[in-house]
Amino acid sequence: MNLILFGPPAAGKGTQAKKLVSERAFIQLSTGDMLRAARTSGTELGKRVAGIMDSGSLVSDEIVIALIEEQLDRNPKAAGFIFDGFPRTIPQAEALDASLAKRGKKVDAVIRLKVDEAALLDRVTKRFEAEGRADDNPEAFKKRLLAYNAQTAPLLPKYRGEGKLSEIDGMANVDAVAGAISGILDGSAKAGKK
Ligand code: ADP
Repeated sequence: MNLILFGPPAAGKGTQAKKLVSERAFIQLSTGDMLRAARTSGTELGKRVAGIMDSGSLVSDEIVIALIEEQLDRNPKAAGFIFDGFPRTIPQAEALDASLAKRGKKVDAVIRLKVDEAALLDRVTKRFEAEGRADDNPEAFKKRLLAYNAQTAPLLPKYRGEGKLSEIDGMANVDAVAGAISGILDGSAKAGKK
């Protein structure tokens, strides 16, 4: 089972992915976490992407696709992957399909967390105060939302057309969202779906 957690920045994808990792034998592949790790360890890649990330723009498709492929190869026996923050553009989605197909796998489900923009802004303001992540400042966050609406939301028709998309209320509390995701994964999604 390979799952994409889909939604705007700060929708709660990372939180839910981590819960799924602890509850099921999934591997979380978060391109945001990978890029932040590259920055922390001071690699050439980390230096290259720092400014782009802090401004709220997307790093190049080529970079994130390479990071994902490396992880797919590193975990050939994984029971499933949770893609979190990837794909974010149409070329990334197409590359993911091709990379999985090459390995005899596919995207099985896409779960969209729906959260309105006012709530996102509120969450991120609190996170900025608590953690000080540079791209959580109001200006950069607005840019991330713009990038989501312009480059990432256009993936929804693709996954809807493939019959893979489920949509859930991401405004509910963490456990309720987790319950809705589990319902979908277990094939009894009626209660959580919209
Ligand atoms: P969030 O989901 O809270 O926006 P992420 O941790 O997923 O944050 O991403 C942080 C930043 O890392 C993005 O704004 C972007 O600069 C970069 N990034 C992460 N994933 C991708 C991706 N798939 N494509 C391009 N850039 C990415």
